[in-house]
Amino acid sequence: MPPRHFADLDEDARATAVADLGLPAFRGKQLANQYFGRLIADPDRMTDLPAAVRSQVARALFPDLLTVVRSVSCDAGETRKTLWRGHDGTTFESVLMRYPQRTTVCISSQAGCGMACPFCATGQAGLTRNLSTAEILEQVRSAAATMRDEHDGRLSNIVFMGMGEPLANYNRVLAAVRRIIAPAPHGFGISARAVTVSTVGLAPAIRKLADERLGVTLALSLHTPDDELRDTLVPVNNRWKVSEVLDAARYYAEATGRRVSVEYALIRDVNDQPWRADMLGKKLHAALGPLAHVNLIPLNPTPGSEWDASPKPVEREFVRRVRERGVSCTVRDTRGREIAAACGQLAAQG
Ligand code: SAH
Repeated sequence: MPPRHFADLDEDARATAVADLGLPAFRGKQLANQYFGRLIADPDRMTDLPAAVRSQVARALFPDLLTVVRSVSCDAGETRKTLWRGHDGTTFESVLMRYPQRTTVCISSQAGCGMACPFCATGQAGLTRNLSTAEILEQVRSAAATMRDEHDGRLSNIVFMGMGEPLANYNRVLAAVRRIIAPAPHGFGISARAVTVSTVGLAPAIRKLADERLGVTLALSLHTPDDELRDTLVPVNNRWKVSEVLDAARYYAEATGRRVSVEYALIRDVNDQPWRADMLGKKLHAALGPLAHVNLIPLNPTPGSEWDASPKPVEREFVRRVRERGVSCTVRDTRGREIAAACGQLAAQG
């Protein structure tokens, strides 16, 4: 794991760290204000710190965690993918997407992913390692600073839909979420409902997350309503079946009162049959009723895969049938395909 960073620490640990440096307690609050409030991670730029203290604080609490290897844009500059390198050479990506009414950053929780879904580029290379809480938060801080400094705007939404399975890095992701939603100076002050944690369906972790009562949005990558196909599309289904995952999603929806977003990558002739749409609508209606929302994602191409998105008429019929069962369903507007920044395309190729 990377060296300890200020953003890894909760309020108590920050107070201890500041005391360990022989600094008065108010310095802790100043540092939090600089980092979370002003989005500054370089003590040299923290003008309220005496110059003599800055290098000491930098060494102890603000190591250079991430370096930008490359940054590429598309969609007329409204989508930007950043390739990061950690202190140990590990690489991973985040994607900033600007829309007229909101700006979303899609962040990674792990370098690589161990879930091995065959249609996802990230899954093909396996897991390198978990990201630390600070590595996760640095992606957010950087996106928020970009919005403020380059676009005179504000980062409004965070989705844990980059590389990795967030619930397989539970404690670090949870700590990051707490700091994302805490108001400044203890966090970035982003509304909990604007934070989405997306999972392949680790049922016990979904229940645990529900019990944290954070009010963040849950996205569940279901991709098919039947176990037979899901066992191959989402291999973790061999451990937690569709019915168990939907039970956990219901628990989440009931605990939080929030709609669960069900992700479904539509793959031509694989999971796009009308009968699957009917089964999906039926199962979701039974499990979640009005608290289900289906997000269809036209499959994005990945290297070496024969699979393709479904034709538009098939997609339209799929939407119609899901809705006919009383479940809301929309098709996700896909960003970043040309720069391999779309869902399932992140591979952090240097
Ligand atoms: N591991 C978590 C977080 C990743 S989110 C999860 O699976 O939910 C990325 C989303 O994009 C997931 O819903 C994933 O299934 C989907 N996805 C993966 N590969 C894709 C592809 N080639 N085309 C479209 N969506 C894809």
